[in-house]
Amino acid sequence: MILIQGKGVSRGVVKGPLYFYKKPDTTVVQIEVDDIDAEKARLEEAKARSIEQLEALAEKAREEAGDESAILFETHAMFVEDDDFVECIDEMFEEENCNAEYAVLQAGEQFAAMFAAMDDAYMQARAADIRDVSQRILNNLMGVVDGGIDSDVPVILAADDLAPSETLQLDKTKIAGFVLREGSSNGHTAILARTMGIPAICGAGADLTEAYQGREAYVDGETGQIILDPDELTQQALKDKFEKQQEMKKLMETMRGQEDVTLDGRKIKLYCNIGSPDDVAAVLSNDGQGIGLFRSEFLYLKSDDYPTEDEQFEAYKAVAAAMDGKRVIIRTLDIGADKQVPYFNMQKEENPALGVRAIRICLNRPEVFRTQLRALYRASAFGKVAIMFPMITSVWEVRECKRACAAVMEELKKEGIPFDPDTEIGIMIETPASVFMASNLAKEVDFFSVGTNDLTQYTLACDRQANDLGKFFDPHHPAVLRALKMTADAAHENGIWVGICGELGADTSLLPTFLAIGIDELSVSPSSVLPLRAEIRKSIAQLCTLEKLEW
Ligand code: PEP
Ligand code: MG
Repeated sequence: MILIQGKGVSRGVVKGPLYFYKKPDTTVVQIEVDDIDAEKARLEEAKARSIEQLEALAEKAREEAGDESAILFETHAMFVEDDDFVECIDEMFEEENCNAEYAVLQAGEQFAAMFAAMDDAYMQARAADIRDVSQRILNNLMGVVDGGIDSDVPVILAADDLAPSETLQLDKTKIAGFVLREGSSNGHTAILARTMGIPAICGAGADLTEAYQGREAYVDGETGQIILDPDELTQQALKDKFEKQQEMKKLMETMRGQEDVTLDGRKIKLYCNIGSPDDVAAVLSNDGQGIGLFRSEFLYLKSDDYPTEDEQFEAYKAVAAAMDGKRVIIRTLDIGADKQVPYFNMQKEENPALGVRAIRICLNRPEVFRTQLRALYRASAFGKVAIMFPMITSVWEVRECKRACAAVMEELKKEGIPFDPDTEIGIMIETPASVFMASNLAKEVDFFSVGTNDLTQYTLACDRQANDLGKFFDPHHPAVLRALKMTADAAHENGIWVGICGELGADTSLLPTFLAIGIDELSVSPSSVLPLRAEIRKSIAQLCTLEKLEW
């Protein structure tokens, strides 16, 4: 039996083959070739494979969402064989005597540039489709697997660490669990794993070697153990744990449809954190009462270029409509620190967590901010959307944000585009400055939501991504809990509500403290809703005390 000890960051027991993730190398270089016919044959194979994939995607889209959704993939499949595009590639072969990758890249770029330069907005938008199709042909030429995982069965994905953008681009249906040599419980990859309900372990270290590629492994996301070749006793224990887990899930089903209320009648809003419209299914199946944090930056991290206003609008509208009148709090772009987006071309920073990130980027780049706000307000006509700003430290920032909102509403009004003028505006409390300024900030907005991940990092001066800070990164530290109380008191004195959307919200051991402080809302990963509801319904709010805030 081989036992590798890491840190469990997303609960659950699973087993599957270990699959070591390799970052795909997609750099294209120009190579002069001797056998141009061989290159042409490679290209034909890659095109045929691309068409096959696109037809399969069209079929899947048709089954899941109807004919209209299939059109995009069908158009892409047609474009693979478009006469002008093919001719352009042939010319590259004749003129440059080059490899197929280079010919496709150049032809794709030329075509995309031609479309981008057209007057018609619809034709301009086709540039992105063309880049997409060329990239697919390139991937097939270079053997890059769609979704990153070449396996017919769900795997235990192993890696040194994964950037949030890499995690988002992986095919989730092929991942049973994550095991990382590095990483931390508060980084966004761990947060994503919890949101998706996939068991995960980080900090497994060098013992997790590639020699284990393909070997069947058990992952226990609670104890942080990765086990290969378990002996009989361990295998039985893991099986028992898995069965208990299934029983617990069934038991939690009884919590569906129940109110989030303590025994003495204190109501608390139980919302969910999501990163994409795909996560709404889990919110609904776990009976979340709203969305307390939609990390909109994941839309940016998933794309190779700025998501357009229409693309964002469709995503926000889909979530707002699916939640059917329940509150959907969408946080504006929060990139920087561990969430890097190459096409933003940000300057390299010594301390990115303290650098130009989140709202600072939006206030520095008004066009990026405006595009997102337009999409958000347009979506507000389709449900109960609320807008939330991250990393606030000052009243002037909030006023600038509100000014940008007012300008966008004015534009939409003039254009006759429907929106909800009463869309609520809130801020994240995740910097010590925002805690100290909470009573002034409360006068500016409709609600607060405490981001305990960053609030812990900034209050304790502890990097949330480092996995070796151990007990020093302590979200239970009285300083963090006192900050929570100061925030809640300021909110209530000014007549607004306060929630928690950081990971601490799901920590049931702190529920009595949250109730004593008077937290109004908890926003957690979908799989935490029903267990938390069970705890709320067992609690007596008036007996909860503030003892954890003491030294
Ligand atoms: C937080 O900081 O607690 C939070 C919810 O935001 P994020 O984890 O995305 O920084
Ligand atoms: Mg944060």
